Amino acid sequence: MADRGERATPWTGHRYVSFGEFYARRRYSAAMTSETSTLPTSDQIRRAPKVLLHDHLDGGLRPGTIVDLARDRGYAGLPETDPEKLGIWFREAADSGSLERYLETFAHTCAVMQTREALTRVAAECAEDLAADGVVYAEIRYAPEQHLEGGLSLEEVVEAVNDGFREGERRARAAGHRIRVGALLTAMRHAARALEIAELANRYRDLGVVGFDIAGAEAGYPPTRHLDAFEYLKRENNHFTIHAGEAFGLPSIWQALQWCGADRLGHGVRIIDDIQVGDDGAITLGRLASYVRDKRIPLEMCPSSNLQTGAAPSYAEHPIGLLRRLQFRLTVNTDNRLMSGTTMSREFEHLVRTFRYTLDDMQWFTVNAMKSAFIPFDERLAMINDVIKPGYAELRAEWLFPKVAPTSV
Ligand SMILES: [Zn+2]
Repeated sequence: MADRGERATPWTGHRYVSFGEFYARRRYSAAMTSETSTLPTSDQIRRAPKVLLHDHLDGGLRPGTIVDLARDRGYAGLPETDPEKLGIWFREAADSGSLERYLETFAHTCAVMQTREALTRVAAECAEDLAADGVVYAEIRYAPEQHLEGGLSLEEVVEAVNDGFREGERRARAAGHRIRVGALLTAMRHAARALEIAELANRYRDLGVVGFDIAGAEAGYPPTRHLDAFEYLKRENNHFTIHAGEAFGLPSIWQALQWCGADRLGHGVRIIDDIQVGDDGAITLGRLASYVRDKRIPLEMCPSSNLQTGAAPSYAEHPIGLLRRLQFRLTVNTDNRLMSGTTMSREFEHLVRTFRYTLDDMQWFTVNAMKSAFIPFDERLAMINDVIKPGYAELRAEWLFPKVAPTSV
């Protein structure tokens, strides 16, 4: 935003200590929860019901599937053809700090997702993998405009992905897991098809698509470029989230909320720049941070992804620690499982290890996510009361039933 700092904005007027400075001065012990609580084991974390709101379909392929699809399509651009080496290549490229290499990862995944069969397979495996990881509800996003090179129409892309999600749900159920998957249609910030994609999302509403998103480089492409799409969705009483406040900071968050009317924020981690931590530990929220907390705006946090893009320096210094303490409506997400080499369980493992989060904390994040999903209220409530809370209650009760001791020596 050209006018940042040139006039009074809702986020200026205070000299705030940055989060990094705060940590440098005062090592935050991070233990907000009772030290006497038992930390969940890796197995419990995996079995705990989890809800995922921010995950990209083209960022979560199995490496073996990429190799298969590339061979079927005659795509010779892969840097590795051994699935294991390819998986490592993706993580290293995303870790490299080079934007070109990071973008190259998506060029490869999109290149092999250009046919109906490929899209259906990738979507089915996505649902299967998430279900096996204990995810009970997921909203998976993708940009239909990036899958047209093989001659598919936008509608055919959406239908192929929906078919895949339904197939994945069926396979998961056959394997003893339960999952529901909804799609979010993404428009690319640098392109000019946002209204068309928003109309597509609206057409497929109640047919597997639950909302809309915009993604891509924040700098230079403010969300207000796509106001027509957001205004259209609001008139249709539809839902959308916006990638904002990952790299670009408060102006991006402010625009996404106050100009575009986003229901949720993709990342939103830079809201921390509007929170002041004094030398005495006193915490003051600026106007924008207050608004986000007061209005219970959901923040789709993706800790491992943020470390890779430099939006946070380490898990311990990730703003999620302070924002959790301040009770923002936080959710935990994976963003790109392939590029980050992560899963929902791994994200929670990092948080449990770093902040000593308990099953109660995990349930809090999970209920937050379910409350913030784009499916109807009665379905969200039933997921919370009939699936999530009983799932955590069962895990919490496990200590009552320790392994049966032998009856003889
Ligand atoms: Zn994202």
